[in-house]
Amino acid sequence: MTRRPYIVGNWKMHGTRAMLSEARAIDRAAQRHMKVEVALAPPFTLIHPIHREAEQISVGAQDCHHADGGAHTGDISAAMVADAGAKFVILGHSERRQDHAEDDALVRAKAGAALAAGLRIIMCCGESAKTRESGRAVAFVKTQLKASLPSPDDVPADLAERITVAYEPIWAIGTGNAATTDDIAEMHDAIRHLLVELYGEEQGGAVRILYGGSVKAENAAEIFAVPEVGGALVGGASLTADSFMGIALAA
Ligand code: PEP
Repeated sequence: MTRRPYIVGNWKMHGTRAMLSEARAIDRAAQRHMKVEVALAPPFTLIHPIHREAEQISVGAQDCHHADGGAHTGDISAAMVADAGAKFVILGHSERRQDHAEDDALVRAKAGAALAAGLRIIMCCGESAKTRESGRAVAFVKTQLKASLPSPDDVPADLAERITVAYEPIWAIGTGNAATTDDIAEMHDAIRHLLVELYGEEQGGAVRILYGGSVKAENAAEIFAVPEVGGALVGGASLTADSFMGIALAA
């Protein structure tokens, strides 16, 4: 990893104010490990409280709407999460794609809205077990990513700072079965080629590509040793400071 490793916790639909102590502990530990960039994406309700206290970590959202505002009951815009203190937003997570039928076009529209609101984005992609078994994983992920990322005409000049990609095979999320380092290497290489094709050598070559799917302290070091892995998107193991920072320490 050449750039500072980026370790992002996705708390999903976990966390009430009782979890603020865990966020504080993560922030304190991150201050002692400045060579790693640590970030947390809590539920919307905790973005502002964590942002207000955090000294080192950045806080992000797990989703945003593609519109600036309007009659969208229960939704939240990119500008609103930015106003609450979010610096980034996770988009295209497989749980959103499955639970909320988000397709690539919608995810791309959200990416445009988030970038316009000044947020960084973490664009998720990943294949199902069925697709991997069929031998079409790389082709599937490239197609999904190309259709979900902003088109080359719509990206900001500092796109390598603003866009991060997270490869998260669906079958590895929350199962305890991380992808093998060979599979991660093959997919991250393919993603790197796609990014260079889309955005050019300099910018596409500098976008960080995270791996996500059952990362824990025990397997983090070998995953971070894979070329083109620029960090991790972590679900379950980000819920306690001990397990999350165990991963950050391996980077
Ligand atoms: C995730 O859902 O983004 C994720 C990687 O989850 P877990 O680490 O629990 O597999």
